[in-house]
Amino acid sequence: MSSTENFHFSRRRFLTLAVATAATAWLKPRSLFAEDTSPVIIIRRAAATAKINLQKLRGNVSVLEGSGGNIAVLTGSDGKLLVDAGITASRPGITEALNSLSADPVKHLINSHWHFDHTDGNEWLHSLGAEITAHENTRKHLSTTTRVEGWNFTFPPAPTGALPTKLIVTDETLHLNGATLALKHYEPAHTDSDISVEFVDADILHVADTWWNGYYPFIDYSTGGSIDGAIRAATENVARVTEKTIVIPGHGPIGNKSQMVEFRDMLVSIREKVSALKKQGRSLNEVIAAKPSTEYDAKWGGFVIDGNTFTALVYAGV
Ligand SMILES: [Zn+2]
Repeated sequence: MSSTENFHFSRRRFLTLAVATAATAWLKPRSLFAEDTSPVIIIRRAAATAKINLQKLRGNVSVLEGSGGNIAVLTGSDGKLLVDAGITASRPGITEALNSLSADPVKHLINSHWHFDHTDGNEWLHSLGAEITAHENTRKHLSTTTRVEGWNFTFPPAPTGALPTKLIVTDETLHLNGATLALKHYEPAHTDSDISVEFVDADILHVADTWWNGYYPFIDYSTGGSIDGAIRAATENVARVTEKTIVIPGHGPIGNKSQMVEFRDMLVSIREKVSALKKQGRSLNEVIAAKPSTEYDAKWGGFVIDGNTFTALVYAGV
């Protein structure tokens, strides 16, 4: 089996588990996943054997895919800067990929938001000498016990070494490795801690989990996310880029403006359908039975969030 097949196999298996669980989970209010098949457990387990795929983008920016969210890497004499930390279980694969880029040590880490699949590796990267930068709400959620209802999972406080120490409130500009980086906080969207990172000279934009390229996104209502916030962020993203911009989504392959337009239009369309059904007084199970996402499921339902789960996430916010 090639590494690519292996990667897709683990995703497919993950999907099957999620769907099987979601089909029975509706009996339990507010829980989309059973405890032992929470995406948190499945993703952490998959990360131990995941193949890390390295792709050079433009300038001195690359991306690593395969361990939780996409990881952007800027190399240079000021030390490597990473956007997002992946899952600790992937440390050997991530280390190998980073070493293949250059010998620069990892000195800087930015968390795009607080979720475990973007911050799980914080502690070991900090132990290598990385200073961690994030929105202040990322530190807030990592510092305390945090329940994510949509994942049916409660996270304990992260160890001190995993906590961001350089905090952003609205925006921040950094100059490193000859590049200018513009960090910008979104109004609450996927969570209340989402920030984008723009590599200005290379015209590359990392948009955190406000975009899943080719997949229905998770929306974390437990820490400030909402479907309307997700649509607002998706609309802002479209307005910020040109056809030439390389966009790094939180999940899914590297993409471009037209793919972001398609994602935004899908969110808007399903939101309108679900909202109309809910206004008629239909229950969650009745709305799911009406299949408001059906025309989109083949394209967008192939990862963690299937059509029924996404319908439930939209229903919660309209
Ligand atoms: Zn996330």
